[in-house]
Amino acid sequence: MIDFHCHLDLYPDPHGVARACSDRGLYVLSVTTTPSAWSGTAALAKDSPRIRTALGLHPQLAHQRKGELPLFEQLIDETRYVGEIGLDGTPEFKRHWDDQMDVFVRALNVCRAAGGRVLSIHSRRAATAVLDAIAAKPGVGTPILHWFSGSKRELARAVDLGCWFSVGPSMLRGQKGRELAAQMPKDRLLTESDGPFAQIDGRSAWPWEAGEAVVEVGKLWDEPPEAVERQLMANLAELGRAASASADI
Ligand code: MN
Repeated sequence: MIDFHCHLDLYPDPHGVARACSDRGLYVLSVTTTPSAWSGTAALAKDSPRIRTALGLHPQLAHQRKGELPLFEQLIDETRYVGEIGLDGTPEFKRHWDDQMDVFVRALNVCRAAGGRVLSIHSRRAATAVLDAIAAKPGVGTPILHWFSGSKRELARAVDLGCWFSVGPSMLRGQKGRELAAQMPKDRLLTESDGPFAQIDGRSAWPWEAGEAVVEVGKLWDEPPEAVERQLMANLAELGRAASASADI
């Protein structure tokens, strides 16, 4: 089972959650929201080869933490994975748009200069701007749009640009999310929880609840969960090959 976007470091007991992920054999992309959180979060995965830690600077924190961009650049050689980065166009954060754009574009430049990374990208109410930025920077690596909520037209453009997608139980509970997920290429799809931010029944989602998304994707594909799981594991392996090819670490 795969949770390709969760915030292990933000659970009340990060070590306990990381251990539970390992015990369950879960493959995890543990994303961070600031470069300064990277080393502590990477330490959670020390004894867990299936947990990979991504270096991030979240768009909602861009205006407060853009001073950490030099640290982002310094740490890029430590990992093949970058996230969470991106843009957020919701009213609360739109007023920091210039800072968001500055941080996102600089992060993409760092990825490109480093030979490419696997990127977990936030694009809430900002899909077109995110796609414009990706289109302008060939060579950043493999962009994965997490919890994509743009239009079908934007989705089609993302597919054309070579983007991958990660979908979770919360996204797949809505009709719009299901319709989008149904149009994502089967061989570029992964599951995620986005815990502890994403909620299930009014409480934080656990990483292993990404498994619920496997069942939901099965309904969209008209395939049993076992077949979906096989496809997702093949996708993860493919992504691993792409990561090794693009980054010599
Ligand atoms: Mn997130």
